Amino acid sequence: MAEIERVLAPASLDEAAEALAAGEATLLAGGTDLMPASHAGKVRFAPMLINLRRIAELSGIAVEDGELRIGTLVTIAELLGDEAVRERCPILAEAADHFASPQIRNAATIGGNLCNASPAGDMLVPLLAAGARVELASKPDGTLVRRVLPLEEFLVGPGRTRRRPDELLATVRVPAAAPDAIWRFFKSGTRPALDISAVSIGLLARKAGNALHEVRIALGAVAPTVVRARAAEATLEGRVLNPETMEAAACAARDEVHPISDVRASAWYRKELIHNMLRRMLSDVAET
Ligand SMILES: Cc1cc2nc3c(=O)[nH]c(=O)nc-3n(C[C@H](O)[C@H](O)[C@H](O)COP(=O)(O)OP(=O)(O)OC[C@H]3O[C@@H](n4cnc5c(N)ncnc54)[C@H](O)[C@@H]3O)c2cc1C
Repeated sequence: MAEIERVLAPASLDEAAEALAAGEATLLAGGTDLMPASHAGKVRFAPMLINLRRIAELSGIAVEDGELRIGTLVTIAELLGDEAVRERCPILAEAADHFASPQIRNAATIGGNLCNASPAGDMLVPLLAAGARVELASKPDGTLVRRVLPLEEFLVGPGRTRRRPDELLATVRVPAAAPDAIWRFFKSGTRPALDISAVSIGLLARKAGNALHEVRIALGAVAPTVVRARAAEATLEGRVLNPETMEAAACAARDEVHPISDVRASAWYRKELIHNMLRRMLSDVAET
C-alpha cells in the first residue's frame, strides 16, 4: 500500500475540486467499501486522501424540475427514511430496505455505491431502472464545472466508471416516477440478511388496465455492470400481462444475460434465478 502523505477534509465542493485538480487523490465517503478493501490489501491509496464528509453541498435530497436531486453523501438510511424518495422513487427506497444492516446503512453513501461500481451494488439496479443520471464536478481551469452522464454511460465495468481522476461525483438525478407507475425490486443472495446479491432485478413500468408501458428492467450481478434487459422489455411493451407474455419475458431475460460463475452462484443458477424471479415479479404485478 502506498503511503498517504496528506489528509484533507474540505468544507466545500469548490475546495474539494481544487484539491483534486492539484494531484492524485483517494476520496473517502462512508468508508464501507474503501476500508475493508484497504485492510485486505486490495486498494492502492494515492498520496492525498480527501474525506468528503464535511461538504454540506454533497448532502441532502431535494426535488427540482420534477427530478429528485440526491447528494452523493446521502446515506442508505437517509434514502430509506426520506418522504420524497418514497413518493417519487419508491423502488430506490425498496432497494435501500434490502441493503446490508442498519449499521452499514448509516455509513454507506449512494455515491460510494455508484463509484465502487460493483455489478452487485444494490443502488445501481433501481437507479438504472429509473433512468438516473449522475452529475460530476471538477475544477479544470480554476472554475467549478459540472457534467451530467446517464448512469448507463457512467458505469463501465466492475470498479470502473467514466469519472476522471480530477472529478468527484456530486449529485444523482432521478426522474420522478409517473403516478400510474408500478415498481418491484427483488434481490437474491446466499443468506437472508447482510448479503451481497447473487442476482437482483428492478422493474419499473406504467400499468394501464393489465398492460405494461414504458417498461424498464434492470438486472444486477449478471454482467460486468448492471444492465437493462432490453429483450424482455420489448416482449412486455404494450402487452397485456397473461401467462404467455409473462413466460416469454422471463425466458427473454434469462436468454439475454451471460453471467459468470463465482462464489455466490453458478452462471446456470443465476440465469434460472432471473427467469424465476422475473416471472414471480410479473405475476405479482398482474394480480395487483
Ligand atoms: C458488511 C458489509 C455489507 C455490505 N452490504 C452491501 C449490500 O447489501 N449492498 C450493497 O450494494 N453494498 C453493500 N456493501 C458495500 C458498501 O457498503 C456500499 O458499496 C456503500 O454504498 C459504499 O459507500 P461508502 O460511502 O461507504 O463508500 P466508500 O467506501 O467511502 O467509497 C467507495 C468508493 O467510491 C469512491 N467514492 C466515494 N464517494 C465518491 C464521490 N463522491 N466521488 C467519487 N468517488 C467517490 C471512493 O473513493 C471508493 O473508491 C456492504 C459492505 C459491507 C462492509
